[in-house]
Amino acid sequence: MIRFTLFRVPIEIQPWFWITGALIGGAIGTTDQIGLMRLLIFMAVMTISILVHEFGHALTGRYLGGGSPRIVLWAFGGMAYNQGARLSRNHLFWMIFMGPAAGFILLALTLAVVFLIYGVQGGTWLTTLIIFNEPVGDPTIEALTLLRDHLPRFFILDALIWINFWWSVLNLIPVLPLDGGRIAELYVTPRHKALLISAITGATVAAVAWIGFDRLYTAVLFGYLAFRNYKDYQSKKW
Ligand SMILES: [Zn+2]
Repeated sequence: MIRFTLFRVPIEIQPWFWITGALIGGAIGTTDQIGLMRLLIFMAVMTISILVHEFGHALTGRYLGGGSPRIVLWAFGGMAYNQGARLSRNHLFWMIFMGPAAGFILLALTLAVVFLIYGVQGGTWLTTLIIFNEPVGDPTIEALTLLRDHLPRFFILDALIWINFWWSVLNLIPVLPLDGGRIAELYVTPRHKALLISAITGATVAAVAWIGFDRLYTAVLFGYLAFRNYKDYQSKKW
């Protein structure tokens, strides 16, 4: 267990965070030194990116409603708690929304650097290759050189762009306890209907991720969340 304090926010990193992080980073298929370097870079960037996301929640919550926030990184990502904060519904919306928004800001800064260095053509090719595994347009010589001769730099950009795009987008999906689900919960009545919305959306995302994109981790995560939300919905329905 790692504990430290940053911007007056206590942070706790649980052992499971590293294990699931290594699995998402492809630890099982890692056999050589370059693969190990890529995995370590991925895990470092993942830790920083998830902390940036959680600080988006924690600092916005403290700015709007006071309280004493703390951050825990665990198996499926992170959680920001804010004990003693007094927040209206609009304040809660901004506190939740600023998590994914912080990720998008880090993504935008990274893309600004990529497009400054590699130009529009090279930047577009690299960005679409990283996010969708399907590059748009033709590569430039500089972009190809990055992939061939500057692997550590490529792995850093790769992880920064991939994690901050997908982590922010996935978190906005309306499935509890993700941020999108917590935003839905603020606005639907009766409140427990958010559990049903979460179960249906979660099951749909799991099916699309598995059948359409062959992303097993995403499918398992959303399948599990759908199941839990459905159970919670059933217990609160009557
Ligand atoms: Zn969040």
